[in-house]
Amino acid sequence: MKSEQEQLTEGMKDLGCEITPEQTSSLIAYLEALDVTNRSFNLTRIPRSDYVTLHLLDSLTALLALPKDKPLKIIDVGTGAGFPGVPLAALMPNSRVTLLDSTLKKVKFVEFTAHECGIKNCIGVHSRAETLATMPQHRNGYDVVVSRAVAAFPKLMEWLLPLAKVGGIVVAMKGSGYEQEVEGSDALVKRLGGKIEQLITTPLPGTDITRHLIIVRKGRAS
Ligand code: SAM
Repeated sequence: MKSEQEQLTEGMKDLGCEITPEQTSSLIAYLEALDVTNRSFNLTRIPRSDYVTLHLLDSLTALLALPKDKPLKIIDVGTGAGFPGVPLAALMPNSRVTLLDSTLKKVKFVEFTAHECGIKNCIGVHSRAETLATMPQHRNGYDVVVSRAVAAFPKLMEWLLPLAKVGGIVVAMKGSGYEQEVEGSDALVKRLGGKIEQLITTPLPGTDITRHLIIVRKGRAS
């Protein structure tokens, strides 16, 4: 049986991404804190034995969609227990990650725990995406808007695209069945100032699951 550290480092190799021993330790410490808190306070239904693959590696597939050459302002909409935002913050120390959720107890947990685990380039924000998008400091404000398991594609576009900068991207992380969600949404995406630019499909290391990253580029303010 492989340790969680081994699962994570080997999985990252399979994804073609690098991870340092310090980043590995921080993320495993985060999982430990999540497991302890989850016993009294429902944050995730995924069992501990699947945390590395279904929380960390799945979140980190988003790296395949992100530009690597510059620090980014990222927002994770509906972060829940911190995914994908906390693993992305750990792996992108020069970027700033906003962890947004409409449930206060989740926001408090993710920010406090990430900072305790040495992942300090993230902040928690308690709000709804559609409310945040009415605030001038957030609307058209992020290089990358990412989200996993929050809403079907059309609703997600309504919530996420207003938060992206012009020239920035939205990354919708989807599992199987994404095609039906996306079908017929071109006009909506266009009305919101976006264009579906790329689809990245990758196996999730250590599983037979396929992850789909739908990348939408924002071409004009909305
Ligand atoms: N993204 C995490 C993951 O993949 O593990 C959590 C997914 S959980 C199923 C959905 C989360 O989105 C919940 O924590 C919920 O509170 C949050 N949420 C739902 N609608 C939202 C909205 N309009 N704005 C902000 N957060 C929202």
